[in-house]
Amino acid sequence: MNRLAGWLGWTLFLVIGVPAAVLTGLTFLLAAFEPNPLEINGEAYTQKMAPYVRAASAIPAGELVARVVLIGDAGDPAEENVDTLSELDAWTRSAPDRTVTLFLGDNVYSVGFEPEDLSRGGAILGAQLNAAHGQAYVIPGNHDWGHTDGMHLERILAQQAFVDAAPDATYLLRDGCPGPEVTALLPEADLPRPILMVAVGTTWLLEPMSRPDCARVHYEVMQALEDTLLNTGDAWVIVAGHHPIVTAGPHGGFERGVIRPAFQALYGAQGTLGKPVYELVMEDLGRALAANRPLVYAAGHEHSLQLYRDGARAEYLIVSGAGAAGHVNTVTTLPNTLFAHAHPGFVSLDFERMPSGTVSVIARVVESGLGEVYATRLAGEEGNSSATAAPGR
Ligand SMILES: [Zn+2]
Repeated sequence: MNRLAGWLGWTLFLVIGVPAAVLTGLTFLLAAFEPNPLEINGEAYTQKMAPYVRAASAIPAGELVARVVLIGDAGDPAEENVDTLSELDAWTRSAPDRTVTLFLGDNVYSVGFEPEDLSRGGAILGAQLNAAHGQAYVIPGNHDWGHTDGMHLERILAQQAFVDAAPDATYLLRDGCPGPEVTALLPEADLPRPILMVAVGTTWLLEPMSRPDCARVHYEVMQALEDTLLNTGDAWVIVAGHHPIVTAGPHGGFERGVIRPAFQALYGAQGTLGKPVYELVMEDLGRALAANRPLVYAAGHEHSLQLYRDGARAEYLIVSGAGAAGHVNTVTTLPNTLFAHAHPGFVSLDFERMPSGTVSVIARVVESGLGEVYATRLAGEEGNSSATAAPGR
């Protein structure tokens, strides 16, 4: 009997165990060596190419009343990333009293503020805060929690403590909780309506390991977001989360090749659209937003610059996760794309008084080393979606 069990064990091991181990090893090996794994289907608007731009027409020059800069995934200290921060420095320097910068998460690659080396985290995030003149707001992304190193609330608390101690900087989604948290941006600005930012902790919603006790469950966060949006009056509302609802980059599954997508399907890649959890959370988020559409839903996480006319969940969707040049990968377009470019940079929402006296909200894409490359009006007297592409690229 024992002998039979032994033979059965060996047979099972040889028939199932060995091939499974070999296949797993091969998949890892091929995924590692697959050439250009982040290439996408359709046209790829990579750094070497001109951006995709839809509907270009002129916007009259206005007077800047308020500026909200959206920059994400800037927490990599590599030398090549310095340019984006100097671009941010130049962009926010001209009117710091009218400017706020929102860091959209992944502020410290790749595993957040490590307890054994807090000075590294401080140096990386400090460089970003120094480049942002005016008030800065910081929300966490998946890498700030620890990401591949596990999800650690202590790393969020360490980052929060650093930002709390920095001048003119505010940490949002406090104590690792998902919010929603409402902040009035530049309340002193001479605007016909207030600007409200609603921060929501998408990492908390997506990563089951990372949830501290915030006296809220998933459903209650969505309900609170809906209630919050229904009480924003006539404000211009910017909802900010780390993860995008829509993206035409690798996180949206827009990749050529067979091996890597199959690898991801087999072993999972948290934070990739197309994963059931991601889809479900974003569906819920979209439903909550649709209760009273904000002007913009802004996110990072995807390493490119993308603008969409949405009209279902928000008037516009903005992906600004190209803060670190070394991470920028590639992007394509979807039917509602207004702008797409896989290039280091950020997006600026400018509230400008037009010659007629009314205020327009203009989204400007600012690229590292190039300055402004694109602008489109999101709200204001001329209606929506008039755009201008700056010469050069
Ligand atoms: Zn991320």
